[in-house]
Amino acid sequence: MRPDILAPLFGRVAALPGVGPKTAKLFDRLLARPGAEARVVDLLFHLPTNVVDRSQRPKIAEAPMDTMVVIKATVVEHRRPQGRFARAPFRVLVEDETGDIELVFFLANPDWIERSLPIGGTRWISGRIELYDGRRQMVHPDRVLDEAGLARLPPFEAVYGLTEGLQTRYVLRATEEAMTRLPALPEWQEPSVLAANKLPAFAEALRGAHRPESASALSPQHPARQRLALDELLASQLALRLVRAKMRRLPGRENRGDGRLSHAIESALPYSLTSAQQRALADIRADLGSDKRMLRLVQGDVGSGKTIVAALAMASVAECGRQSALMAPTEILARQHYERLAPLLEPVGLRVALLTGRLKASERAALHAAIGAGEIDVVVGTHALVQTDLAFHDLGLAVVDEQHRFGVQQRLALGSKGEAVDVLVMTATPIPRTLALTAFGDMDSSALDEKPPGRTPISTRALPASRIGEVVAGLQRALAQGARAYWVCPLVEENEDLDLAAAEERAADLRRYFGDAVGLLHGRMKGSEKDAVMEAFQRGDARLLVATTVIEVGVDVPEATIMVIEHAERFGLAQLHQLRGRVGRGTGQSSCLLLYKGPLSETAKARLTIIRQTEDGFRIAEEDLRLRGEGEILGTRQAGMPGFRLADLTAHARLLAIARDDAELILRRDPELSSERGKALRVLLYLFERDEAIRLLRAG
Ligand code: ADP
Ligand code: MG
Repeated sequence: MRPDILAPLFGRVAALPGVGPKTAKLFDRLLARPGAEARVVDLLFHLPTNVVDRSQRPKIAEAPMDTMVVIKATVVEHRRPQGRFARAPFRVLVEDETGDIELVFFLANPDWIERSLPIGGTRWISGRIELYDGRRQMVHPDRVLDEAGLARLPPFEAVYGLTEGLQTRYVLRATEEAMTRLPALPEWQEPSVLAANKLPAFAEALRGAHRPESASALSPQHPARQRLALDELLASQLALRLVRAKMRRLPGRENRGDGRLSHAIESALPYSLTSAQQRALADIRADLGSDKRMLRLVQGDVGSGKTIVAALAMASVAECGRQSALMAPTEILARQHYERLAPLLEPVGLRVALLTGRLKASERAALHAAIGAGEIDVVVGTHALVQTDLAFHDLGLAVVDEQHRFGVQQRLALGSKGEAVDVLVMTATPIPRTLALTAFGDMDSSALDEKPPGRTPISTRALPASRIGEVVAGLQRALAQGARAYWVCPLVEENEDLDLAAAEERAADLRRYFGDAVGLLHGRMKGSEKDAVMEAFQRGDARLLVATTVIEVGVDVPEATIMVIEHAERFGLAQLHQLRGRVGRGTGQSSCLLLYKGPLSETAKARLTIIRQTEDGFRIAEEDLRLRGEGEILGTRQAGMPGFRLADLTAHARLLAIARDDAELILRRDPELSSERGKALRVLLYLFERDEAIRLLRAG
């Protein structure tokens, strides 16, 4: 049972003052799992991704370019778009005693402009000045204020990842309310650790993280962020250790197959297994056959051939008359796994089914019944698999395709669907060797560190965005010859609307050249719409897929050979690597074009160089760690590591080591967490929802 002291944090965001039913829905969409409600803790762990610094008030002539500034200026002239140029922007000329600039409004509402920027009026205008055609202009100022408005403008404002309809000010208000409701929690960290690392108390850290007063407060190395990361890491290390200690003692069942199905599958393959695949399978079969519970991680880069390894493990379990389940993080991925597993497994007589949240109630009931009766050998699905009303006939193996989405909790939940279920976790997140053991401390691990032979390396080039015309011309030639290509537009979390607008605009541009061959895929689409677009791309009806980063997770179309990434400088190394991994899957020569917009920071330069030099995910992960260790503040959030909300294993590697050592010491001294600090640590485990670990603790 969660301690009462945490109750305010696990209350609904909807119950906070100032959060109405409509806003509550938006928070649910932003912060909670589908179908669940956002809780105060979800809100508090949703940290700002940026900060707007409005403390600079320069004169127009002295204002730096491309930096947030607030200028005081008098409105001189309204330059309306004329006649057939009605789609041209509405420009407003403003000046101060040092110079003038144009404010530029696309699709402007003229009434609003007349009202907010009357000719002769003096206003405080906040935004970024840029140079365009040699003239200085400010496109879409983010604030136009009179003196009274300026007095209310905070000099620093946190910027949060949002969802359509949700505005920053709602998040600011809600986080403010949430922070005042923060209970006084006992200190769970060792005081000497806090002192040595100059880390604040938990409550102070939350406030510091939510109310940054400079861009440096967003750095993972800022004390507030470090403190929160350390808390999460300590909770996770404690949980892992508790789980591992328990698992080590857990009896398993011997799932020792006779090989008849797996040999049949293997000999039907058009290729032979790599030695890395053979080693992983030998590990897995040894685990399956032992009377101990299996909990094994298969770590393998995109394209390293994890599917066949999972398929053969499932076949071994089927040989013992038991079922297997594979859980994937998204509908698209579950479907894809199903489509790849079925042709491998069905020819030897295994019955494979797909279970997702999208089935009709009657279909789901029928499938549940078949699974319960043992008429299905392998079930592939999403979270729907861990629903409480699904009962297996005899589940022997749970495979979790992690793709950095699930945590220990879900692994355990699926594992608890049967008696002594063996668990296999597959991940394509390249984790530096130096971190793998700690990050997945509860598991044994096998690495698929060798790619199947015959792959042609992907030719990767970086080009300035100004050469986009050449890229389009190249695509025209390639598509005319039947090629298929991805075009990725980056996600800027601060503003999902702008992202979407950028992707839609790009798709519209490209349609001028490629017509109906262009498909558009983005995160705001319904599942069925996404499927339709993906299917069109798979069939080749759409040959150029414009997408936001939703394609990052595991879309597989072997015919696609070209990947264009716009604003490549905004992506982290791991993301670039994952994205590029979408091509180079078939036999054709593949290429990846990284379009960047300069000027590039040193780190961005280094990232683009590394990604051009190597396709080795493990090496890329090490380099990523090295670069990020240097404390770069990333404009876009990196894909997180399994189950972490506040910590970032590459940026917080040092804290991870601290947490690991501390967890070890704690459990050696106080294995039941019954001392004063032990009790505080239980609160910590509940706070980070490592409840399962506490349950194990109680069970002894
Ligand atoms: P992952 O899931 O690890 O990204 P997949 O399992 O999808 O990789 O494998 C990628 C491709 O490689 C698939 O088309 C698969 O058929 C093929 N493949 C897997 N193992 C081998 C192998 N040993 N030799 C040749 N091709 C292989
Ligand atoms: Mg076993």
